[in-house]
Amino acid sequence: MRFLPIFLDLHTGPIVLVGQGELAQAKLRLLLAAGARVRWYATEGNFNLSNFDTASAARIERATGDPLTDDLSNVIAVLCAGAGEIGHAMAARARGIGIPVNVMDEVAHSTFIFPAIVDRGDVVVAVGTGGASPVVARRVRERIEAMLPARIGDLAGFVGRWRDAIKTRLPDMPLRRLFWERVIDGPIGADVLAGRSEQADQALASIADPAFFARSVGAGFVTLVGAGPGDPDLLTVKALRALQDADVVFYDDLVSPEILDRARRDAARVPVGRRIGKPGIGQDAIHRLLIDAAQSGKRAVRLKGGDPFIFGRGGEEIAALRAAGVAYSVIPGITAGLGAAAESEVPLTYRQEALRITFLTAHKAKDAGNVDWSALTDAKMTVVVYMGITAAPTIRAGLLAAGRSPQTPVGVFARATRRDAKSVVGVLHDLPALAEQVESGPAILIIGDVVARSAPWRSASLPINPEDLISDLLMAAE
Ligand code: SAH
Repeated sequence: MRFLPIFLDLHTGPIVLVGQGELAQAKLRLLLAAGARVRWYATEGNFNLSNFDTASAARIERATGDPLTDDLSNVIAVLCAGAGEIGHAMAARARGIGIPVNVMDEVAHSTFIFPAIVDRGDVVVAVGTGGASPVVARRVRERIEAMLPARIGDLAGFVGRWRDAIKTRLPDMPLRRLFWERVIDGPIGADVLAGRSEQADQALASIADPAFFARSVGAGFVTLVGAGPGDPDLLTVKALRALQDADVVFYDDLVSPEILDRARRDAARVPVGRRIGKPGIGQDAIHRLLIDAAQSGKRAVRLKGGDPFIFGRGGEEIAALRAAGVAYSVIPGITAGLGAAAESEVPLTYRQEALRITFLTAHKAKDAGNVDWSALTDAKMTVVVYMGITAAPTIRAGLLAAGRSPQTPVGVFARATRRDAKSVVGVLHDLPALAEQVESGPAILIIGDVVARSAPWRSASLPINPEDLISDLLMAAE
């Protein structure tokens, strides 16, 4: 490391800016956004402040003297941007009197360089590459920005506000550190990050014995996380964070290994899934595991394929957690139907052609027998079926009985968004045969005219329903 990151206190004095033009303007923007006071020597006398509001402009002092001879006492740093030759002379002067100086893009004349900055209020991250590559620094910054909760600055501010009060009540340093870890990692920290600052203040104020709180095992909690349909890049930023904070992950069979890989390295991983034909540990046993983990102070993640609330029994799980008094939260995921539709370019709604969507499940023929098919007669409704492979013959019979045309376009989308994804398309009449073609599951069925607009349909060059063509032409003519 050649450049040590340090943080300048902008309240201790002005920053001198020497230079002109767009480069100087860019530095002004940066400095004013950071809250600095700036003494600006515009080398050609053109003090253009039209880019700044009056409050910001008020923090700029127009210096008309000579920066090479003017008094620089109290100045905390000197920047030269678009300063030409004067930049080098200015740098020599600043170095001579021991003021940090940066000449833009000239490391040889500078004693410090600017990092890429992540600015979240009280939390500031500086990223440097020793001046080697600002583009790499920006990429790193983008990744950090994606990782940090939006309100991380609020969390630092919250701790800052309470710091002195807790210090008086808890003078022992190691115990105090433990106290803050419990606060930040527990429900109080979660409240701040969720924007519930008042609640967090109340909870902290109500801690009667901070030493006891610090020593007691922190209250654990459960996060139900939607893992999406398979592609790990379809995880939400929140899901990723929950995985990286977890002590233990209880996962379903549908969760792909690549997604499990994103969990914290030393998190315990516990499979609790069930597949057709193979029994799982049962829903009650899953509830028990989640409750036990939380009650022993763990941050547990319940990782479920797709979205937890779409055919995922997430509703039952949070009811059990509520009944046991365990804290929980829910992070949505991209449900398989949406993942499959996006991947295969099936527009689930389409102008006048598809105005409604139904998500239904038909796990076994028995479930399919329970479906009220008469609710699905509407030809402008797209039907998305989960767990429908084995029940494909019953689904066909039901939809035909409801009056859907045997020529209705259908698609079977297996292992959607995974590397071994496979899709087949055809018409409702052939649905059972199509379902057999995809080999192993999981698979989604999509039934409706919009399937004729999908990528697999186009590459199979199946004809578009002539009625659609006519209605399209009519609509275009309107
Ligand atoms: N909660 C999940 C659904 C669980 S039910 C979600 O929101 O996606 C299990 C069914 O989901 C499977 O039988 C299958 O129909 C569907 N499914 C899950 N992952 C899938 C994938 N990658 N491709 C196609 N279908 C999938």
